[in-house]
Amino acid sequence: MTGNTYRRILLDKKAEFLEALGNNRQELAESDYRLGADADKIAHDEFVLLRVNQSLYSQLRLVEDALDRLELGEYGCCLACGTAIPPKRLEAIPWARFCITCQEHMSGFPFAETARIGEEVSL
Ligand SMILES: [Zn+2]
Repeated sequence: MTGNTYRRILLDKKAEFLEALGNNRQELAESDYRLGADADKIAHDEFVLLRVNQSLYSQLRLVEDALDRLELGEYGCCLACGTAIPPKRLEAIPWARFCITCQEHMSGFPFAETARIGEEVSL
């Protein structure tokens, strides 16, 4: 895949994350008006949505960082050791920052790289 292909995929992902964040925000706003609903349930739902939003924001940041690296011509290189990230990994996780070896050494890293919203993969 060329840089332009990755850019298009990343821009699509960015739009997807922004839309998901927008939907969650709307749900949070509406939850205040669910009259008669159990207050504990509302609090729980809000807690879950906020947690989801946090992870969406982290992933959105990763996508934006990847777009920056594309502009700088640094895209596709491991940020830790500098080797080229295999195309197969970039196709699965276009915002991958590390090669597989470095990623494995970073288990417990705060922002797990995921291929889809809310899903963790190791490639
Ligand atoms: Zn590496």
